[in-house]
Amino acid sequence: MCCYCCSSLPFKECCEPFIKGDKKPNSAEQLMRSRFSAYATEQYQYIFDTYTNEKQQGMSVEDLAQSAQGATWFALNVHPSHDTSSTTSASGVDNNSATVEFTAYYFERKSMYQLHETSNFKVEDGRWRYHDGTLHDDCGKIKYGRNLPCVCGSNKKFKQCCATKAR
Ligand SMILES: [Zn+2]
Ligand SMILES: [Zn+2]
Repeated sequence: MCCYCCSSLPFKECCEPFIKGDKKPNSAEQLMRSRFSAYATEQYQYIFDTYTNEKQQGMSVEDLAQSAQGATWFALNVHPSHDTSSTTSASGVDNNSATVEFTAYYFERKSMYQLHETSNFKVEDGRWRYHDGTLHDDCGKIKYGRNLPCVCGSNKKFKQCCATKAR
């Protein structure tokens, strides 16, 4: 089975080692993908642990689980970027922060939704963490043609692929 994050790799060679703590993501995109897979597999402790320290104040693993309830995350598209590193430092590149733009898809009560966000990531204690993000205007409920190629990039028709995960 391909990883939840829609890479072409199996879960155990992609996001699972990050979620289990066997490996550290070495880019903001890897962390972002692993957080998506953690949502898809309901590993809220990992979601919590990968927020910045500042954001962890005033949130709990239980809150995260609660707010995610009812949503089935099934596909992720990471948008191509030119240079994800910000250029604030004197050397030109600040390797301690990055942005990643993505669209994530989920079902809730059989309706399909998309979340289109540009997320800000920072390195803290030598690890990539999620800080916050900006939502784009096209977030919300969407209608997706059942005969169109699936949003997960499988090359199958939507109705024969991720549409079957609707619940
Ligand atoms: Zn993955
Ligand atoms: Zn699919």
